[in-house]
Amino acid sequence: MLVFSWFLVTLLLVASSWAKEEVATTEEDTYRELSVGELLERANRDRTHDFNEPALIGGDIAIKLEADRNADPCTSRGCLWQKWSDGKVYIPYFIANHYSSREMSIIIRGLESFSSISCIRFRPYQDGDYEWLSIESRNGCYSYVGRQGGGQTVSLDRQGCLYHSTVQHELLHAMGFNHEQTRSDRDNHIRVYWENIIDGMAYNFDKINTLNQGTPYDYNSVMQYERYAFSKNNRPTMVPIPDSNVSFGQATQMSKNDIDRLNRLYDC
Ligand SMILES: [Zn+2]
Repeated sequence: MLVFSWFLVTLLLVASSWAKEEVATTEEDTYRELSVGELLERANRDRTHDFNEPALIGGDIAIKLEADRNADPCTSRGCLWQKWSDGKVYIPYFIANHYSSREMSIIIRGLESFSSISCIRFRPYQDGDYEWLSIESRNGCYSYVGRQGGGQTVSLDRQGCLYHSTVQHELLHAMGFNHEQTRSDRDNHIRVYWENIIDGMAYNFDKINTLNQGTPYDYNSVMQYERYAFSKNNRPTMVPIPDSNVSFGQATQMSKNDIDRLNRLYDC
């Protein structure tokens, strides 16, 4: 009897540790599988119109003027940050004080990730700076494209925007980059399924004259949304061509092409 009870207890212990392991693995897998596009969509999905917030195009690109809807502000009026005589591009930032230390460290890690791979140096705001990024938790994840003059908001909502990939994505917008799926040559690389896009959201797929810097279309750019972005029926809105099975829209950090493009744009 005693042996039998011991056996039962052991069995239960083993079973419960299996169950725990199962749960942990599932959670990690879910976390790992979320691409930058999925994270951005999830964070901005329920964003309601608010007069204190800018209008967004493409899911997470803030615009000041209606005219910016159809033009890349970077190619139409210039948007690069200034390069200094030491060859570095210093971009001042100010981080609002409503973040926890864990959230702050995710933001700082994102800012610092540019130092080792480019001539971009984000540095804290100082008195006298007249252009800077104001990183705040506002309604969703968003950024303007390129330098705007004065303080420009980069919103990293505490609800859903604090991931390495989303921080890098919004910072790349602020440095002048648009979404990969809006490249003027995208029809050679992806097929857009207009019939699957949420009604009224086709403008998220407008092609613009993006700053490609001679780099190839990159399915796994951190600026590429995923297959089901803005889908109204759970069918894909974008499919790579000619091979529809290649990995697509799964980036969790900047790709080699993202880095090359940045270095070429700023002539690092
Ligand atoms: Zn974006």
